[in-house]
Amino acid sequence: MQEHVYIGLGSNLDDPAGRLHRAIAAIAAIAGVELRAVSSFYASAPLGYDAQPDFVNAVVEVATSLAPRALLDQLQRIEQLQGRQRSFANAPRTLDLDIVLYGGLQQSDADLLLPHPRCHERAFVLLPLHEIAPDYVIPGRGPVAGLIAACGDQRIARLGD
Ligand code: AMP
Repeated sequence: MQEHVYIGLGSNLDDPAGRLHRAIAAIAAIAGVELRAVSSFYASAPLGYDAQPDFVNAVVEVATSLAPRALLDQLQRIEQLQGRQRSFANAPRTLDLDIVLYGGLQQSDADLLLPHPRCHERAFVLLPLHEIAPDYVIPGRGPVAGLIAACGDQRIARLGD
């Protein structure tokens, strides 16, 4: 049984776009994961802590037979391989990988909240998600297109190919 899963990627240190390309290749190489779609890359203003570079963000769709926790373990392994250090909340980061949506699953486990608890209010998730899943309805939150309308104050720009 395979689930459709959306993964959010972000980086704002040391060649962010290159890091995202490498992370996407690493995600595609996980056993039990098939890469189905990749959004454009977006430049977005940092949230919460301003004195840091803009982020580069993207969302990918995968089909996977991995359980949610097993998938998160693999994503955290990729974060570690790319040298991520956890310093403080909203700090600059070489690579951040989040499970945005795991099928229609809603769960509130402390170490894995699904859908991701802030995905519905972040333009840097919603715009790339809308590109690859325009009709998606986030469980408990509503259609992606409608949620985007509420994020108009967040600075974000699609990067060229
Ligand atoms: P962050 O520093 O934002 O990458 O947060 C990482 C922590 O968030 C990890 O300890 C995860 O266990 C937890 N977490 C909770 N829900 C999620 C999710 N949907 N995707 C990724 N990490 C999550």
